[in-house]
Amino acid sequence: MRIKAQVAMVMHLDKCIGCHTCSVTCKTTWTNRPGTEYMWFNNVETRPGIGYPKRWEDTKRYKGGWVLENGKLKLRAGGPITKLANIFYNPNMAELEDFYEPWSYDYDNLIHSPKRENLPVARPFSQITGKYIDKPEWGSNWDDDLAGGSENVKRDPNVEKLQEHIKTEYEKTFMMYLPRICEHCLNPSCVASCPTGALYKRDEDGIVLVDHDACRGWRFCQNGCPYHKVYYNWNTHKAEKCNFCYPRTEAGLPTICSETCVGRIRYIGVVLYDADKVKAAASVEDPKELYKAQLACFLDPFDPEVQDQAREAGITDPWIEAAKESPIYKLAIKWKIALPLHPEYRTLPMVWYVPPLSPIMNHITNEDELKTDGYIPAVDQMRIPMEYLASILAADDVKVIRKVLLKLTAMRVFMRGKTVGGIDEFRQS
Ligand code: SF4
Ligand code: SF4
Repeated sequence: MRIKAQVAMVMHLDKCIGCHTCSVTCKTTWTNRPGTEYMWFNNVETRPGIGYPKRWEDTKRYKGGWVLENGKLKLRAGGPITKLANIFYNPNMAELEDFYEPWSYDYDNLIHSPKRENLPVARPFSQITGKYIDKPEWGSNWDDDLAGGSENVKRDPNVEKLQEHIKTEYEKTFMMYLPRICEHCLNPSCVASCPTGALYKRDEDGIVLVDHDACRGWRFCQNGCPYHKVYYNWNTHKAEKCNFCYPRTEAGLPTICSETCVGRIRYIGVVLYDADKVKAAASVEDPKELYKAQLACFLDPFDPEVQDQAREAGITDPWIEAAKESPIYKLAIKWKIALPLHPEYRTLPMVWYVPPLSPIMNHITNEDELKTDGYIPAVDQMRIPMEYLASILAADDVKVIRKVLLKLTAMRVFMRGKTVGGIDEFRQS
């Protein structure tokens, strides 16, 4: 057993209000320099939508991450790294137009415009070229608050199977928010794809960082990451990415996105895991089994044997105590109500999500409905289709999502029963 400590995050999606405060505070902290204009280490996507960069989950278009071929784990970073042509031109990489060419507005024109018949206009101009843009066509947050059923749904590869359903049943449209940062994966394909070893997973806490002295700007990491969370700085010619606010976490502070989160959706903590199990977990054949395989890597911080071995591995007592109190341990490992994003990418991501308990579509009108075999209205009539949640958080395994939603529903009913005056009253209401 090779014990390591890993910092991780759980985001409770029911609590996200899509305010983008996290994105803005992250941007002003980390990507407020020339060359980083288009970068959002943290972004919040409205789902179902096409995301940022555009259609980032379309693995046919962007060939990043790990694939399992003939029982072996292989990097699919846009082709064999040894191919010279691939070094100069990588056809599978997201380009600026997939992110967007960021613009600002000519406020000076707005403020100092002389009196005239028509209202002055603050024209948009490119932050990169400084030239006016006639009509911006795409931005990192272009489809904000557009629910499923709109044009963006038709372009989302995740909802193809739901398109017909949505087209014919518009009253069942839905939306949810998905905030995203780098996953600080246990098996990071960005690190594996870097020819110069500039990307590395920090031993003490598992944060994935870029060594800018070593980075030569090859950009394989940008393509190697299936979550598209590595960016290329056109000014310094170096890779950049979320660093889990390590200068803050080292000082005992939360990441800036967590500290400023309006919905208080973000939980940060430490988990202990067995690094020897990582490769086997990522190589499990059936994508639906990857979640369980990842869970099997984690260790019980309350187990005295684990604690002893952790100490032997150089993990200090404050870290072991932090692992015992970790909300990540409780939400993801003990209670199993948080799930990894796209486990099928095989990077073993470490930002996990509590799926949203969306509003119920119909009222329960008939007591008999409650007795139908295996059918639980509070869960089975959720507005957000379970198939959709499963396509994001459970490698299409609806059973996994349903189990989590059942636990969340039970907890909600229990708490309402306690606060509103009893489960029977809650049902009648
Ligand atoms: Fe690397 Fe982060 Fe992408 Fe994982 S999510 S592969 S750690 S950049
Ligand atoms: Fe959601 Fe919090 Fe970000 Fe607001 S600050 S969008 S609530 S994650």
